[in-house]
Amino acid sequence: AATEPVLTIAGLNVGYGGVPAVRDFDASVRAGEILALLGPNGAGKTTTLLAAVGALTFLSGSVTVLGEPLDRRVERNARRGLTLVPDNRGVFHKLTVSDNLRLAKRKGGAELSDVFEYFPKLKTLKGRRCGNLSGGEQQMLALAKALLARPKVLLIDELSLGLSPIAVKDLLPRLRTIADEQQMAVVLVEQHIDLALAIADSAIVLHHGRVALAGPAQELRGQREKVEAAYFGLV
Ligand code: ATP
Repeated sequence: AATEPVLTIAGLNVGYGGVPAVRDFDASVRAGEILALLGPNGAGKTTTLLAAVGALTFLSGSVTVLGEPLDRRVERNARRGLTLVPDNRGVFHKLTVSDNLRLAKRKGGAELSDVFEYFPKLKTLKGRRCGNLSGGEQQMLALAKALLARPKVLLIDELSLGLSPIAVKDLLPRLRTIADEQQMAVVLVEQHIDLALAIADSAIVLHHGRVALAGPAQELRGQREKVEAAYFGLV
């Protein structure tokens, strides 16, 4: 039987200074599912993530986490299991990998050894300053830090920003494994449409703040032209 969604967003409208940036957005994600949020620059992807974790007040609509409405306080929502990986990755460049991880450690959270299982390379980089890591290594660290909180919902902004295609092809399948093994719901903002659809369960294409296309990833994988048309606002 299908489980209840962990995160449900309904009729969401968010704006800046009264100017709408996201309109009538609906989405839901279940435990272990990955929702890919696609769309060109300025489509409203970051705004949607920020609203979903309670960092932006919305004009209307609702966000429900595990059956309860979002709290006004971001830290409450974080404690209830919402973890955002921002597009700047939120790693401290002057600190070592080890220190970054130690700072992210939480009572009741995951152990370093748990996250090293997904990102063994980080173990070998423990003593390195983050500023000296490659983009892919920094993103591994950002994901590892997020996992330490044992999130119920992991929201990732532009996972592949500044990464080589090889690094993206390496990271995305690991995210699939993490979602499966940890039964974590994931909302993934991603520029690489095909790579995102390959690992996602469902996808939403945003254009100019509106949902241009939404559906199961399996369906959309075979509809490249339709996805592109939605992406570029041709529908
Ligand atoms: P990108 O890939 O460029 O980050 P995005 O899809 O994440 O794009 P958003 O950053 O959510 O898009 O931006 C959606 C719209 O809201 C854009 O028109 C943007 O200019 C506007 N916007 C974003 N942040 C602010 C802000 N702080 N103040 C005013 N307008 C904003």
